[in-house]
Amino acid sequence: MPPKSDINKAGWEQSEFPILCETCLGDNAFVRMSKQEFGRSCGTCARPFTVFRWNPGTGMRYKTTVICQTCAQIKNVCQTCLLDLEYGLPTQVRDTALALQNEAPSSDINREYYAQNMEGKLEKNKSLLDSHRAQSAGKEMLKQLARTDPYYKRNQPHVCSFFVKGECKRGSECPYRHEKPVESELSRQNIQDRYYGRNDPVAKKIMSSHADTMGLQAPEDKSVMSLFLSSLPASSTELSVRTRVLQSLPAIQPSQLRSVVHVAKSKCAFINFKDRATAELAAQAWANGLDIDGERVGVKWGRSKNAAAGPSKASASSDPGASAMVS
Ligand SMILES: [Zn+2]
Ligand SMILES: [Zn+2]
Ligand SMILES: [Zn+2]
Repeated sequence: MPPKSDINKAGWEQSEFPILCETCLGDNAFVRMSKQEFGRSCGTCARPFTVFRWNPGTGMRYKTTVICQTCAQIKNVCQTCLLDLEYGLPTQVRDTALALQNEAPSSDINREYYAQNMEGKLEKNKSLLDSHRAQSAGKEMLKQLARTDPYYKRNQPHVCSFFVKGECKRGSECPYRHEKPVESELSRQNIQDRYYGRNDPVAKKIMSSHADTMGLQAPEDKSVMSLFLSSLPASSTELSVRTRVLQSLPAIQPSQLRSVVHVAKSKCAFINFKDRATAELAAQAWANGLDIDGERVGVKWGRSKNAAAGPSKASASSDPGASAMVS
């Protein structure tokens, strides 16, 4: 506990050992940690916390904790890499698969208050992570995507910026890596976004390539904003499908769902979204199917209305990346 006289330190965090994933901890059984109390402010809640620094293995770069333990526990992530401790995945992937609600406080004051408030509710939060809304298809997806073995390559030193410019004179003494830089998405990410699981380019890439693998590649025709559900249980109704759809996509507003057209006779339904980004998010979230009334339902992209027409293709291919980023 902080000294009583220093009332401003209420809520400051002290800890004996960091909460880390296996990769960040490294393979050195005798790892020595340096510890600095209130060494910096947490990258997400801004409250001062105990910062740890260590070398995760021979030839690796020093690692340090960037968020406090409370924040790490709230989301069950590593204090250093911010990846989920169980699956080794970005929170955005985990939360999308498990249909977890993300309430991200916006201002610094709110974030501090949020973390303090959550501190007392961590137990409750564990059950939240175990949410009933988590459908078995989502859990299956996480198991397929999980990185369970430690991935020590991630601890390598950064690429030497002087070497890249052909100017490094340190040769083999240089502590940085002398190789051509591979674009690292992790370095371009923002801590807040990664932590709260929003606008995370790495998560987006993981989920869209998984959707592709599962046969849910987003159609080139950007006007397609519908998903088709098949083999619905006989008990399903338009309302039960709609409810389930919204439940499984907590990140979207009900207004982003244009309509649900349920065809009882053929046990299928069309889920029509108002925008393409939402339809893509749904396809990624449902890559392993969707569970409705306890049964696994098939998911496919809707058909292009002008499948035969060519002109839309030309405009789409001019800059597909940019148009995919919109919204
Ligand atoms: Zn924090
Ligand atoms: Zn880690
Ligand atoms: Zn160098």
